Order: sequence, then C-alpha cells, then structure tokens
Amino acid sequence: KIRVRYAPSPTGLLHIGNARTALFNYLFARHFGGTFIIRIEDTDRKRHVEDGERSQLDNLRWLGMDWDESPETHEMYRQSERLDIYHQYIDQLLAEDKAYYSYMTQEELEAIHERQEALKIAPHYEYEYKGMSDDEVKSYQEKRKSLGIIPTVRVRVNDSAVYEWDDIVKGKTSFEGSNLGGDWVIQKADGYPTYNFAVVVDDHLMDITHVLRGDDHIANTPKQLGIYEAFGWKVPRFAHMTLIINTETGKKLSKRDTNTLQFIEDYRLKGYLPEAIFNFIAFLGWNPGGEEEIFSLDELVKLFDPERLSKAPASFDQKKLDWLDGEYIKKSELSDVVALCKPFLEAANRFDEHAEALVKLYQPQLKFAEEIIQLTNFFYEGYPELGEAEKAVMSEETAMIAVKSFYKHISVMSEVDFKADNIMPLFKEVQNETGIKGKLLWMPIRVATTGYTHGPQLHEALEILGRDEVIKRLENTLK
Ligand code: GLU
Repeated sequence: KIRVRYAPSPTGLLHIGNARTALFNYLFARHFGGTFIIRIEDTDRKRHVEDGERSQLDNLRWLGMDWDESPETHEMYRQSERLDIYHQYIDQLLAEDKAYYSYMTQEELEAIHERQEALKIAPHYEYEYKGMSDDEVKSYQEKRKSLGIIPTVRVRVNDSAVYEWDDIVKGKTSFEGSNLGGDWVIQKADGYPTYNFAVVVDDHLMDITHVLRGDDHIANTPKQLGIYEAFGWKVPRFAHMTLIINTETGKKLSKRDTNTLQFIEDYRLKGYLPEAIFNFIAFLGWNPGGEEEIFSLDELVKLFDPERLSKAPASFDQKKLDWLDGEYIKKSELSDVVALCKPFLEAANRFDEHAEALVKLYQPQLKFAEEIIQLTNFFYEGYPELGEAEKAVMSEETAMIAVKSFYKHISVMSEVDFKADNIMPLFKEVQNETGIKGKLLWMPIRVATTGYTHGPQLHEALEILGRDEVIKRLENTLK
C-alpha cells in the first residue's frame, strides 16, 4: 500500500518549489489510491517561523489538496513532539557503538575546516578519538564535560561504503561514503535530532513507501541510507525532482530574486485562481505528453505517471502562468469573475454600478483579478498623460481627421442611443467619409477616448465611459 508524505519545515510561507513537492506527492497518492501524509519537520528551532505551519496547510488547501494524516488529525506528526522517539533510537545506536558522543566545539570544527580549506581538501570531520585508548577517551570526555561542553551525537560513517539507489527520476545514483564529510551529527547539543536522522526514523515509523522531494536533497540521501542500514530498515523508493529554473533570469528559482513572485500567498493575494496555479505547478517537471496544457485536478490525478517526471530542469515562466490563469478566467462564469475582482475593486472604491460591465469587458483579456484595477484606470482616473506609443499614434498625419469625423458622428447620438452596437458602425462611416482605414483609423480614436493604445473592445469601452465623457475627451483632443 502506497504511503507518501510532504514534510515541510515551517520556516516561512509556502514557496512554489515546496508546493510542487506537495503536489506531486498528492498526485502520486491519489493516482495510486495511496495515503497522503503531512508531517511537520520543525527541528530547526533557529529557522522556525511563527504561523509557518498554518500558512503551509492553508495554502495547500487553497490549491485544492487534501490529506489523510497530518498534525491536525494525528498526534505527534510534528517532529518537535517526537523527541522521545528519536532519543530512543539514538540510544540504540549509542549502545551498539554505531554512534558516539562528540565533544568538539564549534570553534575547533571551524579551525579544522579552515586548515582543510588552506590545503584545498574537502571539509570533513576528523575523528576526535583517533589513537586514544579507552581510558584516554574517558578522561578527555570528563574534562570536556567539566568545562561545560554539551556533546552532540555523531553516527559512524564507513568511508569505504558506496551508497546506491535507483531513483525514479534520476535512475541509478550512487555516492561514495568517503564524500559524506565523515561521521555526522545526528543529535545536536540542544537535544534535537538533525533532519537527516529524524527523517529516516519518521519515514520508517510512518511506513513511507516513496519519498518524492526536490533534488536539493540528493546529497542527503546517502546519509539517510546509512541510517537505514544502521537500523536494518527497509529503504523506500526515492524520486528527486529536478531544479526549477526561472526563465526570467535563467537561474535556479531563488527566494532572493525579489522581482519574481514565488510564494503561493503572493499569487493568492493578486487574485489568481487556485485551479490555474495547481495546473501550472503540475507542469513544473512533469507533463502528460501531447499538446494540451489545461487540466483539472481530477484529470491530473487520473493522468499522473511518475515515469513522466522530467529529468531536465523545470522552467518557471510567470508569463505562462499569466496565460493559464487568463484561460481559466475566460472560461469562468461572469458572476464568478465579478466575485473574484470584487475585493480589488472595493479596495479601490470602484465596485459601483459599472463594475459588472467593466469586468465583462475585460474578462477575455484579464490575466489575474488584481489586474482589473490597472485596466479600469482609463475609466476611473480620467484622461491620462499620454505615453510614447500613444503620442506616436496621435502624431500621424491623418490622426486628427479620423478623430474629427468620429466626433461628428458621436456628437449627434442621443444618450439612449449611446450603445456599443450603435457605435460599432460609426467606424465604417468614418472610413467611407475620410478614406482612412484599419489601424490608422481606430488607433487615434482609441487613444483620444481611452488614452491608451491597448484596451478592450473599443465600442464596448465607449458605451461604459458614457456619452458625455467620450464627447469631453474627443473635444479635448481636438482643441
Ligand atoms: N523538511 C524537509 C524540507 O522541507 C523535507 C525533506 C524531505 O522530504 O525529506 O526540505
């Protein structure tokens, strides 16, 4: 029976990369009828963020995921609540001499690393009891204890071992024991286990069958295999998902690129649709084959195939997310799009009698709900200062001729007749009258009335602007 887990460390908001890990575990569990578990890995007290756990779970739920076991329903699904369990297993390794107390101080370790660096050798722990007799070990430990040094616990690493596994994504992978940096810490001085130790104990006790995680963990896997071996436990299957590259920068998606939105919360606050984000994330390092890119959660669950997890880096392209979200908005009911835009319009004092008409006007091009504010500026902010593109349009020789002819027709329309359907044929009339055609005809009229070269269907925008405002703007342009 398949059991997979998403094991966030609550060190901040839910990042796109973590959401991807959660999502693939979710799809994996649901596709195979397995169990999806959430375990909180909160042993790093220094990086702990208040509310980090709630933010993770809320955002996963918002994306449409659910789970079968988690700290919400199960006791001791947070590592900080499992310290007794880890101590028990650490005691076992100590008793079997597979682990030992280490009294090296941080300063000593740093000094060793500096020396190693100067010699250009990879930093590694140097066995502190080398060549000592049992009595010497004892007196060394006593002395250190009396100095108030609190020991860590290190596990013995066999430098000549080779750690191998068949990764679902990477295929056969192996690491030499000699590259692990020597005996490593499994219990810190504060009594907390380290990640690489606790993760194995938990995955074993929770009967995890498959571990799907980001490939930033690949170098941890051999250490974890060493722990499985020390206990004689069955090893789960691993899948290390490829890096995510930011298409904007060509580099690994990094929390330091402050120009890129990369927390789920960022998108949620801008009014993106969770279905679109779910769909987008599912394609970060996976695809079902074929051209189609729009899939619902249920379809993705059905289609999911771990063999199709990509070996090549995934590309994070925010423009693609915008496109996808726009596609979801396009096929939504108008009333849903209005509801989606409402909080933004309200905050800008724009949720008035025109709101629905404006949202309807923009539904075909809206990429995410918050964008409605910028798009409706032409309506609420009065006539803007013209940009370069707009000035260029208005400097065409024929621009004023087109605007003048259009004005002539508009100004004789009554208030009741001022409807999109009646405005539409006027462009043809202006063309017949002036001989001006295409862009040269409608661009100056668009700029004269809205102030922008880009925008929605012009005849519809004009109806919403209203007769008086349109006439005023045309007159100002002609002045
Ligand atoms: N707590 C680890 C992280 O957030 C989990 C890694 C794993 O899945 O083993 O990266």
